[in-house]
Amino acid sequence: MAEFASAWVVIIGGGAVGVSSLYHLAKAGWTDCLLLEKNELTAGSTWHAAGNVPTFSSSWSIMNMQRYSAGLYRGLGEAVNYPMNYHVTGSVRLGHSDERLLEFKRVAGMGRYQGMDLEVLPPSEIRSRYPFVETHDLTGALYDPYDGDIDPAQLTQALATGARQMGARIERFCPVTAARWTGAEWILSTPKGEVRAEYVVNAGGYYAAEVGALFGRRVPMMVMSHQYMLFDTIPELESWSKSEGKKLPLLRDVDSSYYLRQEKMGFNLGPYENPCRAHWATPDDPMPEDFSFQLFPDDLDRLEWYINDAMARVPLLAEANLTRVINGPIPYTPDGNPLIGPMPGVPNAFEACVFTFGICQAGGAGKVLAEWMTEGATEWDMWSCDPRRFTGWEDHDYCVKKGLEVYGHEYAMHFPHHAWPEGRMKRLSAVHDRTAALGAQFGPYNGYERALWYARPGDDTSEEAQRTWRREGPWFGAVKAECAAVRDACGMLDLPGFSRFRLTGAGAAEWLSAQITGKLPSVGRLGLAYFADDKGRIVTEMSVARIAEDKILLITAATAQLHDRGWLERHLAPGLSLTDESADWSCQILTGPKAREVLLAAGTEADLTKGWLTHQSARIGGREVRLMRVSFAGELGWELHSRLTDTPAVWDAVMAAGTPLGLKPFGMFALNSLRVEKGYRTWKGDLSTDYTVLQGGLDRFVDWTRPAFRGKAALEAEKQRGVTKRFATLVIEAAEHDPPYMSTIWHDGQVVGELTSGYWGHRVDACIGLGMLKVELNQPGQRVEVEIFGQRYPAKVMADEPLWDAKNERIRM
Ligand SMILES: Cc1cc2nc3c(=O)[nH]c(=O)nc-3n(C[C@H](O)[C@H](O)[C@H](O)COP(=O)(O)OP(=O)(O)OC[C@H]3O[C@@H](n4cnc5c(N)ncnc54)[C@H](O)[C@@H]3O)c2cc1C
Repeated sequence: MAEFASAWVVIIGGGAVGVSSLYHLAKAGWTDCLLLEKNELTAGSTWHAAGNVPTFSSSWSIMNMQRYSAGLYRGLGEAVNYPMNYHVTGSVRLGHSDERLLEFKRVAGMGRYQGMDLEVLPPSEIRSRYPFVETHDLTGALYDPYDGDIDPAQLTQALATGARQMGARIERFCPVTAARWTGAEWILSTPKGEVRAEYVVNAGGYYAAEVGALFGRRVPMMVMSHQYMLFDTIPELESWSKSEGKKLPLLRDVDSSYYLRQEKMGFNLGPYENPCRAHWATPDDPMPEDFSFQLFPDDLDRLEWYINDAMARVPLLAEANLTRVINGPIPYTPDGNPLIGPMPGVPNAFEACVFTFGICQAGGAGKVLAEWMTEGATEWDMWSCDPRRFTGWEDHDYCVKKGLEVYGHEYAMHFPHHAWPEGRMKRLSAVHDRTAALGAQFGPYNGYERALWYARPGDDTSEEAQRTWRREGPWFGAVKAECAAVRDACGMLDLPGFSRFRLTGAGAAEWLSAQITGKLPSVGRLGLAYFADDKGRIVTEMSVARIAEDKILLITAATAQLHDRGWLERHLAPGLSLTDESADWSCQILTGPKAREVLLAAGTEADLTKGWLTHQSARIGGREVRLMRVSFAGELGWELHSRLTDTPAVWDAVMAAGTPLGLKPFGMFALNSLRVEKGYRTWKGDLSTDYTVLQGGLDRFVDWTRPAFRGKAALEAEKQRGVTKRFATLVIEAAEHDPPYMSTIWHDGQVVGELTSGYWGHRVDACIGLGMLKVELNQPGQRVEVEIFGQRYPAKVMADEPLWDAKNERIRM
C-alpha cells in the first residue's frame, strides 16, 4: 500500500481514456500520477469495443482530437515497445442523397485544412475502393485513407507500458469508494487503504456518474446498449484479401446507420439502430455495482432491418454465418460528446469520461486532459467537450431522452436551421405562451427555448423542412421581414437565459480592471469586456454594466454560465463577492429606429436621451426594468432586463404600445443576420481560445496604457511581432448555401484563412463571412475565394468596419 499512499494526480478508471490520460500527463512531466482501476485494465467498455479509429467528424475540435489519436497510434507500438494490431484500412462512407454529399464535401474541406486528404468519390468510383458494394442508389462516397481499426486492449496496454516507463503508476483491483476534500487535498478511500492526491480525474467510463457522485458532482449522462455482430469466414472475401494483400476498407452506410468492417476473413457489422435501448435508466433496471468484463444478452430483433440492409448492400455478407454478438454498455452525454476538462464546482478535480467513441478519441483526449491539468488551458479550443457546457439543469429524464436521440441519429447530419426535438420545453421564458401564440418556432439555448423565427400563416413548420444545408427554407421570407421591421420600425426579441453575475466589494472595479483587456466603463455606463488568458487568447466576452463604483453587473451568454462564473471565481480577489443572478432575471432586446417612440408610448419615465452604452433603472408597465442602451442588431435600441416575475407585464406593455408603431417580434435567425452585418462576434463561434485578442481584431478593446492586465505581456509581444492572421469581413458571391463554420478561404490555390461565421445579411442583401485571414491579404478590395461545400466562390475582403451603418450612426440616433 505504501507505494501508492499518495500521488500528485490520481486517475480513477483504467480504460483506454484513463490510461491515455496517465500516459499524456507523464509525457508532460507529471510523472507522480497514479491510476486506480477497480478491476483489471479495460474492464469497462474498452475490452469489448470494436476498435474503429475514424478521423471523420463534422466538428472541427473533435476531428482534431481523432486526427491526433490516429497519428499517435501509428507510432505508439514502436515508441513503447509494445507491438499492437492497428490496421489502417481506409474507409468508404456512403451517401444516399445530395445533402449527404454536401456534408462529405464540407468535412473533406476541413480535413484538408488539418492536413488530411479525404476524397469525395462519384458513384462510378466507389467499387474501385470497395469491390463488393451495390452502388445503384448512391450519390457518392467519402474515402478516408486514415481510417482503421485497433485492438482496444492492446492500445490500452501499450499506453500503460509507456506511462509506466515514464514513472507513472497503476494499481489494479483497487476501487475508489469515497472521496474527501480536506481544503488542500483529496483523500480517496479504497479497500487497500487511503490515497492522498492533489488532483483527481474521473475516467470512470459508464460508471462516471457513480464516480462523480463521490465528489458531489452530478454527471450529465446515461448508458445505452450497443451491439456489433461477428460473421465467420467468407471464402470469396478470403481469396480477394489474400490476392490483394490487404483488408477491405471499413464501410459506413451512414444513411442506413451502420458500419461494416472486415474482421479476419469475415465481417463485423455494427448498427446504431433506432429505436434503440437505454440501460440502467429506470428503477426496475438498476445498475449493478460491478459489471466488469460483462455483456448484456444479445438483442438481435431490433437489428434485423440493419442486417438485411447490409446484406443487400454487400451481398457477400449473406454468405456468412453469424458467430458472435457483442452487446455492451456505452455511455452518452446529452449531446454525444465526451466530458474533458475541469469538473464543474469541484476543486482540483477533472473529468475525462462519458466517451461514446473512446477508442478513436482516447489519444486526443489524453493530450487535451493533460494540457488542462498541466497548463490550465488546451492547445485547441475544446468547448465541444468541456464539461461546463452543461450547466446543471439537465435532469435524468433529459439525459435519457437526448442519449436515445443522439444514439438513434449517430450518423445524422446536423443542419444549421434544424432543432432536434427531444428533451425540449424544459426551460421556458416567462413570456413563452405569448411568443408561441405569435408563431415562434423554438430552438434551445442552454435548454432555454428561444424563438428562432416567427412563422406566418402558411409557412411550413415541419421538422422535415429544416433538414437542409440551403440558406433558404420556410423561415427565409419570415426572417427577411423580421430584419426589415428592425431596420425600418422596431423589433422585440425575447432572450431568456442570459447568464448574469453581480460583483461587489471594495476594490471590485480595480480587480475586474486587471482581468480584462480594455477599460472598465464608468458608473452609469456599460461596455464589452474581453478576458484573455496568459497567452493572450480569447477566453470570454462579457457585457459589463457599472452600477456604482464597486458594484458591477456582468452579463454573458446563456451557455457560458459555468464557464464564465468559474473563470471569475478562480481569479476572484479575497473580500469580493460574486453572485449568480441568472435564474432570477430575463431580457428582451427592443431595437429599431422607432424603439424610443415605443418606449415612450409604453409610458416609461426613463431619460431616453441618454446615449449609447448607458444604463438606467426605469419602470415599464408598472414594473422595474434596467434599460441598457445597446443593440446586438445594430440599430437604435435597448436591452430590457426585468425580474422573471415582472417580465410578462413588461412584454405586454411594450408590445401593446409598439404594435401600432410597427413593432414586430423577431427571432435568433434574424439576430444572426443582423449581427454579422455589424461584424459582431459570437462566443465559441468567432471568439474562442483558437485566437488571440489581436487576431480577433479586438485591438480597440485593448487599453495598453494600463500597467497590468491578464494576457498583457503575451499581447504586447504579439503586437511587436505582428499578427500573421487577423479578423476579416468578406462578402461572398455564394450560391444557395451560406458557408458553415471552418469553411476555408483560398487565394492562388492556397488556403489562406477560415470562416468562423457565415450568414445572409438581409439589410445588405449579401452573403457575409466573418473569419480569419492572412494579414498580407487582409486589405479592403482584395479578391479571394471561399470554399462552401466543396465549391469555391469569389469573395471580396471588406474594410475593417461594419457592413451596415459603418459609422454607428443608427445606434447613436
Ligand atoms: C459494442 C461497442 C463497440 C464500440 N466500438 C467502438 C469503436 O469501434 N470505436 C470507438 O472509438 N469506441 C467504441 N466503443 C466505445 C468505447 O468502448 C468507449 O468509448 C471507451 O471504451 C471508453 O473508454 P473509457 O476509458 O472512457 O471507459 P471504460 O473503458 O469504461 O473504463 C472505465 C474504467 O473505470 C473503472 N472504474 C469505474 N469506477 C471505478 C472506481 N470507483 N474506482 C476505480 N475504477 C473504476 C472501470 O472498471 C473501467 O475499467 C464501443 C462501445 C461498445 C459498447
